[in-house]
Amino acid sequence: MSIPFPPLPYHTDDLEPHISKATLECHYGKHHRGYVTKLNKLIGATRFEHMNLEEIILESSKESQAIFNNAAQAWNHNFYWHCMTSQKSLKPSREAMIRLEKNFGTLENLKQQFIESAKKLFGSGWTWLVRNEDGTLAIVNTQNAGTPLTNGQTPLLACDIWEHAYYLDVQ
Ligand code: MN
Repeated sequence: MSIPFPPLPYHTDDLEPHISKATLECHYGKHHRGYVTKLNKLIGATRFEHMNLEEIILESSKESQAIFNNAAQAWNHNFYWHCMTSQKSLKPSREAMIRLEKNFGTLENLKQQFIESAKKLFGSGWTWLVRNEDGTLAIVNTQNAGTPLTNGQTPLLACDIWEHAYYLDVQ
């Protein structure tokens, strides 16, 4: 068994002009693929070999930095691609809006707080909207490959703040 490299949920030019085809081809085709390939090499013939991705992340976090980094980056990217869409007018469901407004007041406040959090992240990492174990929602940053999964939080939305996510487009 090996960890799969899932297909993108859209074409590489579907997010233009916000994210270019060149960026998606490099980010998905080179960086994301690289994490999965490296992870499969690292876990071969180890106790991680028959675990799923979530299990590898939780089990390796205190044991192997290299396995954790590649497993978490594989998961984070799988999730990240599904946080974006080529459809122009998608809005949160009514139920999601009730939760979002309870925690952030308005959708606009949530957007502003998310952007502010992302701008404050120093170096490489991720900005997330998460659900805490008590059901409240929060915006958090993680450094490098860090993922909310190891804090018992459920990711709801992710933004990749690694330079490879945007440098081809904005230099
Ligand atoms: Mn990335």
